[in-house]
Amino acid sequence: MAGQLGPVKINEIFKSIQGESSFSGLPFVFVRTTGCNLRCRWCDTAYAFDEGEAKSVDDILTAVRRFGCRHVEITGGEPLLQEEVYPLVQALLDDGHAVLIETGGSLPIDRLDPRAVVILDIKCPASGMGHAVLWENLDRLKGRDEVKFVIANRDDYDWAVGVIARYPALRRQTILFSPVFNEMEPRALAEWILADGLPVRFQLQMHKYIWDPAMRGV
Ligand code: SF4
Repeated sequence: MAGQLGPVKINEIFKSIQGESSFSGLPFVFVRTTGCNLRCRWCDTAYAFDEGEAKSVDDILTAVRRFGCRHVEITGGEPLLQEEVYPLVQALLDDGHAVLIETGGSLPIDRLDPRAVVILDIKCPASGMGHAVLWENLDRLKGRDEVKFVIANRDDYDWAVGVIARYPALRRQTILFSPVFNEMEPRALAEWILADGLPVRFQLQMHKYIWDPAMRGV
């Protein structure tokens, strides 16, 4: 079945420690797809905009299996830009993997296999991509899906707090607040969350503290 599917353009496949979400700290295989429809001001994976190689779903499955790791994250770029990502997710799930999809939040998530966990970015204004948020996605979130706000300053923080207030359904999900690396002071963000008693999960991009943040494949 997987052999009849078209290829997916892949930037890199590697094993690392999951640095974000409530899965952080676990070993993961990351499948990074090529291409993104957004241009966040602080993007740290611009190398994935164009670089990559077309790989069949079978070849991707084989590459993932070699790492001997149950957890897999499909990330980008923007994974949902490529049609064959949907059967890839299904194939990985059928192969016994737990699958996370990290998406920039501008494309519909409703065609993804419901067994997968979506990590949905909601782009804050300072990213320059706030206009691209597909708000309908907030009604499509399932129980284990998580929502992520990457926050660059107090205006972003206040904006994110406003979004949570306007969309009560969001409060059923794990909500992640993450400071923009090397831009937003983590302590200030932590203190705002505590002062407001906000029921969100503060996170740092753990992999950037373990390895050189400029390194690829970590
Ligand atoms: S959505 Fe992700 S990959 Fe695309 S520009 Fe923004 S940070 Fe970079």
